[in-house]
Amino acid sequence: MLNLSGVTRRYGDTVALKDLNLIVPEDTYMSLLGASGSGKTTLLRLIAGFEEPDAGQLWLDGERLDGKAPHKRDIGFVFQNFALFPHLSVQENVEFGLKHRETAACTDPRELADRAAEALQLVGLDGFGHRGVGEISGGQKQRVALARTLVTEPRIVLLDEPLGALDANLRNRMCDELRAIRERLKVSFLHVTGSETEALTMGDTVAVLSDGKIAQADGSTKLFTRPQNAAAARHLNAWNLLGGTARGGALETPAGSFQLPRTLADGTQGQIALRFDQLGVSDPDSVPGGHSHFTARYVTGEFNGPTALAFFRAPDGALIQVVDHLGEPRLPELTEGRTYALHYAPEDALLFEGAAT
Ligand code: ADP
Ligand code: MG
Repeated sequence: MLNLSGVTRRYGDTVALKDLNLIVPEDTYMSLLGASGSGKTTLLRLIAGFEEPDAGQLWLDGERLDGKAPHKRDIGFVFQNFALFPHLSVQENVEFGLKHRETAACTDPRELADRAAEALQLVGLDGFGHRGVGEISGGQKQRVALARTLVTEPRIVLLDEPLGALDANLRNRMCDELRAIRERLKVSFLHVTGSETEALTMGDTVAVLSDGKIAQADGSTKLFTRPQNAAAARHLNAWNLLGGTARGGALETPAGSFQLPRTLADGTQGQIALRFDQLGVSDPDSVPGGHSHFTARYVTGEFNGPTALAFFRAPDGALIQVVDHLGEPRLPELTEGRTYALHYAPEDALLFEGAAT
């Protein structure tokens, strides 16, 4: 188990990580979701030992990590750009880590070759050892980078946006493979990404990094359906957030007045969260019974293949998104510029305390 406690890392005036706590359990695939510049790479570099925290502690299996040299930590790191040695063959790239490690370095050519072959087989690159790094595709380079890490039998594997450099089709395939490889090895993977779909697809658990802290770490379904705070909800790109002030059992917002799903003292600021796929659209005079609603003007639609997004503007200019699934369409024909009622089952609305940011 990896345990980060109160970890802070500053660069001059920039506070990249601020009193961060995170637990990565044994034998798990964890995604770490965060926007660009949120400190994802910094977090991985601290775990690997390429950097040290300004405050806080890191533990792996009950052993203190911070202060230890990187090569003594038994941690695997798959870099964002693969970082393969261009002048070495695939096999030599994989052997490199074994040959040059501080403890239990392997020098026997036969053993090196066997272990490299085994690692290449694990990532589906059987027989590619003799190829030059320039003679393989992007997806294959990704696998070599993974094999080079796995061959050293790390206690945990850190992957920094490992699918970022791959095209969309390949990305989907690598998602499945990464999960399958990890399940065979039983070692935990911590996979950093800026993509909410990738984070939710990959992770048994997803941790959301926001403002230098973990906003929420939970199973993907739970995180998606029940984010605990506005920061987590914002990162999922599936929730509309409407900020306002509580008054008489409702949240008064510039987009309208929303019945509060739970009590909030008058004058307290809060945000109502409504999921893109839980908003219905109708004419203002035909809102389904039992549903709450507010009105907004239809701006435009966007077709994404299996889903279609509809964009609305609330009276205050806030952008509201509604998603429709083409297999089971539920939205009426929409006319640009017209005002519609956006309605929802009251029990689907979430309330987060605190002002909108
Ligand atoms: P991410 O990987 O999520 O995009 P990073 O961890 O690379 O984010 O960066 C987090 C923040 O720390 C950013 O504001 C970045 O500019 C800053 N930062 C990262 N590394 C350094 C560094 N070596 N020197 C100064 N600032 C840095
Ligand atoms: Mg990064």
